[in-house]
Amino acid sequence: MENQDDAPNQEENSESSANNQNLPISLVRRARRLVSQPTLQENNLDNEINNYPQHLNDENDDDDGESSDRLFEEYIQEGSQSGQSQLFDSELPTQHSYLGSTENVRGFSYFEPYKTYEIPFCEHHSLLFPGEILPMIMLADRFFSLSNNEEGVVFGLVFQRENEDEKQTYGVTCQIFEKGLESGLVKIKCKVQQRFVVVKTNNEDSITMRNHGYYAKVKILPEIVLQDPYLLAISNSYLKHYQNTNNKIHLQKFLAASTRWPKFVYDEYSIATVTDKIERYLAMLNIEAPTDPILKSFWLARNVPLNHTDRLKVFQSNCVNKRLMLIGDSLNYMCYFLCKRCKNKISIYNDIFAVSKGAVNVNYCNPAGYIHETLTVMKTFESAVKLVDKPSTEFSWFPGYAWQIAICSKCYTHVGWKFAAVNNRNLKPRTFFGLSCKSLLVQSQQDSVNQNDQEVIDSDME
Ligand SMILES: [Zn+2]
Repeated sequence: MENQDDAPNQEENSESSANNQNLPISLVRRARRLVSQPTLQENNLDNEINNYPQHLNDENDDDDGESSDRLFEEYIQEGSQSGQSQLFDSELPTQHSYLGSTENVRGFSYFEPYKTYEIPFCEHHSLLFPGEILPMIMLADRFFSLSNNEEGVVFGLVFQRENEDEKQTYGVTCQIFEKGLESGLVKIKCKVQQRFVVVKTNNEDSITMRNHGYYAKVKILPEIVLQDPYLLAISNSYLKHYQNTNNKIHLQKFLAASTRWPKFVYDEYSIATVTDKIERYLAMLNIEAPTDPILKSFWLARNVPLNHTDRLKVFQSNCVNKRLMLIGDSLNYMCYFLCKRCKNKISIYNDIFAVSKGAVNVNYCNPAGYIHETLTVMKTFESAVKLVDKPSTEFSWFPGYAWQIAICSKCYTHVGWKFAAVNNRNLKPRTFFGLSCKSLLVQSQQDSVNQNDQEVIDSDME
């Protein structure tokens, strides 16, 4: 995925992705050349629009956004058109084969919850949750600065804060399980393992530099699963009756009477209704979440559309039940995905679907080392995006699909890519979009209702 247009730019200018900030200039230039589009970034957007290819602003030009779309259609015409439809193998994206050949890395490290450790780390631009797979490309020197602990396979990713009112710095431990070396670059696949908070010393994050790398003092956060409170009050003789769904509510009333709190208090904190909502969501996506409650709560935090504030709340919560309740609240409303810069509606909740096995929101890495959190949707709203530049199959995250850059049709910010099957026109889905979550805002219908109410109040006051 060579030309994720903002990737080389972010990495060079904003220093937002520390894991790739020392990439060779030749690689960045190469990525830029392949992009062939000026990179778009909020702080220099106006200049960039001025420098933007004329065709975006000239409707009569044959090479405008629409013609790029036509070009894309012509491109995929080259494939065969006969035969039965073939479903895309959703296992393929999970292998991140665009990274090239890698070898297994053995070993596993586990840190004790509540204890403090000092680990090598680099920064990451967005939140990650345990259970996620993270593909990374980095300079060999940087890799060795991260992996010179005894195990050599675990390091931390510390999240950059999005808002000034975030008081604590959080992160996750990552376990490397595959590694490859090519042309001075290390390509790794790692699994996110445990959450941590960076310990403060004198009100500052406890970070030191040694052996050409940064180390953070971190406290590992615990994962707490609250049991069904009625099970604490039930005797063994009633247990088998309690497990019978028909008897459950009746028994709960009976058991609550013998405890300190009435039943409605327990109902308030019950995750039973949340579980129902989650099951309906999974049925809509036709995918399965992990069964382990801790991993399931993290999987949902990644795969249910949440805005940054809610996602951070889920991350900060040590209690799995509380996480599920926070996620359940967001499932009460339909949501839209907006362009973060201009609030243009790009896509909607109903169009989310899984291209990669078992997930709709997956991290992929471009050749410049920038990691894109990518949400797959069947389509975008009509005229919401423009397709620019020529389609390419190089470094494609979805083998068998070509990709083409999609920008917001109103402000020209990069918002994702369109993917289309090449060589095999019978491949299903034939086309889809990958939206870059860094460029999106999640707006639930509840948010928009509140916003409309506020606008009415504001206009009344005027
Ligand atoms: Zn926009």
